[in-house]
Amino acid sequence: MEKLNKMNSDISQTSIDSIFSILKEKNNLQQLKNSSSKERIAKIKKIEAYILNPKNHNSIAQALFKDLRKSNEEVISTEITPIVLTIKNVYKNLKDWMLDKHVPSPLTMAGMSSYVKYEPKGTVLILSPWNYPFQLTVIPLIYAIAAGNAVLIKPSEISKNTSGILKLMINELFSENEVAILEGDASVATKILKKPFNHIFFTGSPAVGKIIMRAAAEHLSSFTLELGGKSPVIIDETANIKSTAEKIAWGKCLNSGQTCIAPDYAIIHKSKTAAFLKEFEKTINKFYNSDNKGIENSKDYCRIINEKNYLRILSLIDDAVNNGAQKVISSSSIKEDNFIPPTVLTNVSFEMKIMQEEIFGPVLPVFEYENKEEVIDYIHLLPTPLALYIMSNSNKNITYFMNNTSAGGSAINELMVTTVNPNLPFGGFNNSGIGKSNGKHSFIDFSNERGVVKRKWGNLKLIYPPYSEKIYDLFKKIIRL
Ligand code: NAD
Repeated sequence: MEKLNKMNSDISQTSIDSIFSILKEKNNLQQLKNSSSKERIAKIKKIEAYILNPKNHNSIAQALFKDLRKSNEEVISTEITPIVLTIKNVYKNLKDWMLDKHVPSPLTMAGMSSYVKYEPKGTVLILSPWNYPFQLTVIPLIYAIAAGNAVLIKPSEISKNTSGILKLMINELFSENEVAILEGDASVATKILKKPFNHIFFTGSPAVGKIIMRAAAEHLSSFTLELGGKSPVIIDETANIKSTAEKIAWGKCLNSGQTCIAPDYAIIHKSKTAAFLKEFEKTINKFYNSDNKGIENSKDYCRIINEKNYLRILSLIDDAVNNGAQKVISSSSIKEDNFIPPTVLTNVSFEMKIMQEEIFGPVLPVFEYENKEEVIDYIHLLPTPLALYIMSNSNKNITYFMNNTSAGGSAINELMVTTVNPNLPFGGFNNSGIGKSNGKHSFIDFSNERGVVKRKWGNLKLIYPPYSEKIYDLFKKIIRL
């Protein structure tokens, strides 16, 4: 694998140019554009059959175990099932999504009909991250194919075992003019980004998102940026503390906190802090240490992806502690294993490094508040989050928190499920992302919505020059001047 990655980092601009020109070839794109929903579904079905084949499923699970030590249960629930459910939703709806959508025409357009025609954008690029490396590559691919595009994929070089599996799958299922895949690091991505893609679908960090946006500007390519950020969870004085502690322990520790929509930090009503910390610790032990063998021996607890990120997270904890934060829940980390235990910090301030960047690890800073306005002040210290969660049994409080904040998405008395409903748009806002995906939103994202007007009877002769006062009077009537 090392050798393979080295080879890919060395990939020349000329090779990338030739891969791109195959995908971009005029007749190829026309054929994809003309393809029916049945033909597109047949391609997507190949993906489903591949991942549901027990042999391939095992290889995928093994790769994810090697990359992140994901358990089989997390592989099936967070990597495979979202793909299969996406595919089923596409089967059900693609024919309808592809139909021209007729829209009403105003009276001023008498004699004309109007409709939206969905065309593929053309040649699209998918750049994916390492945290859910399989599903965050395959789901955008499904929608790109559903919309009739030719696709180039560059998965993350960091989750290299999963990227290797993705490469095998793509090369087995697709011809080079349908879907191509290139492994490699930022230097390969930089070369790829020189090409004039019709659309770039990027999932990753806000820092790299800015690089993607600049590259897209060169060719005026459209883009979707699925980014991250610091997603707060608010716990008010009416929240059910036991279930809140369970939900946050799950959300914070799933994939060892390396989830874009994980709760990054908590803001809790002062009257509930002690009870929450007690329940949180109890839950962590119930989840990962019920046999008293230590969390590091739980088969269900993932590892940090690599040493670089392991050291980054520890340095955030150290900086917080050196500046007065208290580690109230924690145990020892293990360097050789990139293991960081669930950790809770109190006495945290927004000046600390841990509050200046997305944690992306199993560490929960906890802030306390006494009145609701303080919560809003805290949240407005940071850019708009990808997700904002509210744990409360007071409709008045929920309305107040919803109306005084903004976020890419929100869940009330639940965490992270916003991605599960394909009818809801998923994505951030400004720093946490640009553009929305999921279900029809993704189909539209990978399509050009062509607005079409068709004249059925009549004409516009009345408004052609030479102008008369009649025209002036007509427009005065229309706008009631
Ligand atoms: P990243 O931004 O470092 O990398 C993402 C992709 O960009 C990778 O394929 C990488 O090779 C490529 N890349 C890296 N540097 C580049 C450069 N200079 N030029 C061009 N391409 C470059 O992100 P990551 O570390 O893989 O993933 C973690 C981030 O992704 C977190 O911020 C997380 O919140 C976010 N994320 C968001 C979502 C979402 O749906 N909104 C989902 C998962 C992860």
